[in-house]
Amino acid sequence: MDLDLNTLLLVTVYVEAMLGLLLLFAWVQNTQIIAVAWWGFAHLLRSGSIVLFGMYGTVSEIISIDLANAILFTAFAMTYTGARVFDGRSINPFALAGGAAVWLLASRTPYIFDSMDARILVSSGIITCYTWCTAYEFWRGRSEPLVSRWPAIFMLFAHGALFLLRTPLTSILPWTNKDQLYASVWLTVLSFEALLFTISIAFILLAMAKERTELRHKTAALIDPLTGIANRRAFLESAAELYLRQGNSPRPTAVLLIDLDHFKSINDRFGHAIGDKILQTFAEATSAKLGPRDLIGRLGGEEFAIVLYDVNRERALAVAERIRSTFAEVSAVIDNCPVHSTVSVGVVVEQAGSVDITLLLAQADQALYYAKSRGRNRVELASLDIVLDRAKLRTSVATAPAQTAA
Ligand code: GH3
Ligand code: MG
Ligand code: MG
Repeated sequence: MDLDLNTLLLVTVYVEAMLGLLLLFAWVQNTQIIAVAWWGFAHLLRSGSIVLFGMYGTVSEIISIDLANAILFTAFAMTYTGARVFDGRSINPFALAGGAAVWLLASRTPYIFDSMDARILVSSGIITCYTWCTAYEFWRGRSEPLVSRWPAIFMLFAHGALFLLRTPLTSILPWTNKDQLYASVWLTVLSFEALLFTISIAFILLAMAKERTELRHKTAALIDPLTGIANRRAFLESAAELYLRQGNSPRPTAVLLIDLDHFKSINDRFGHAIGDKILQTFAEATSAKLGPRDLIGRLGGEEFAIVLYDVNRERALAVAERIRSTFAEVSAVIDNCPVHSTVSVGVVVEQAGSVDITLLLAQADQALYYAKSRGRNRVELASLDIVLDRAKLRTSVATAPAQTAA
């Protein structure tokens, strides 16, 4: 198939400009992800550089080669900077201007100035360096679960590798003299690949930004903003999923319902800000005591719930006791205030595995109520005795002022 190089260049100019405008349009719609603006301007710059390349022969080489390349490298530098900004890293001015500066200096040195191969080597090296560094920046942020991060890394790596291979390839298929056919084949392949690359990368970058926005919305709907752990809805959903996933081979689980003791009075004495700090301290200290498959959530106010996966009764009680004692220790003094906050814990162990989380929470609630009624700062296991005791308690306090239940 014959591809006319000039047509290809013209198409690339338009496509680059359109993609640049598309990215800028997407950025205007959601200005929070500034990286999209960097990527948009990068495409516009690349379009501009190709216009200058296309003027080769009609204007001086300083413009059609030197300036065009400097602009092209700055475009790659902007894509790289966008990747840094996307993952919350700083703008590196040396990296931003480095490629153009290296090119302008190198292309002026006598040997490189005279040798087309050497100039190709320098320009390919700069492009490979930028695209691989961009791929590396995306790879560094891989802990954020964005699926589109991976095709972006792959595309950038492959594009860089092709430019690196360009040097050995040009010695096999010479750029200048002898055989113009090879030169045009080689240039056409590169230009065609560049066009496909630029289209793919623009859409992948857009997809990344969109995925990031969706992930943030989803996270905001499921995470308790004060403590950073799951909110009630997310906890109940995850617990229900856990029981569903067990299928035919259920493991015994335990549900812990935890309520901070006399929290209202702590708020009254030390202020709401200290109260908030205590809740954060609890969530942090307790999360650190859990395994990767356990679940923790803030059900509301000063009430938390935990699902311990694959535990027997002894281990569940040991974990509950560790949570209670650790919190008593870490909350003795908060921000120089002697708050001495404590928790009461109700525990229920489910041997059969797959049981309704709402039912388990209701049973744990009875144990928690029992812990409160027996003086607080303690762990109680749900059992039939508790149910009977609670029934007795209800009748005996029927005429007394109501006790606060968790
Ligand atoms: P008990 O030992 O019986 O559980 O007593 P309590 O005072 O802890 O229970 P009560 O339900 O009377 O009070 C709960 C308090 O928790 C009241 C409310 O102001 C406080 N609270 C709920 N959410 C927050 C919060 O996000 N921050 C702060 N600082 N306090 C909160
Ligand atoms: Mg309480
Ligand atoms: Mg409560």
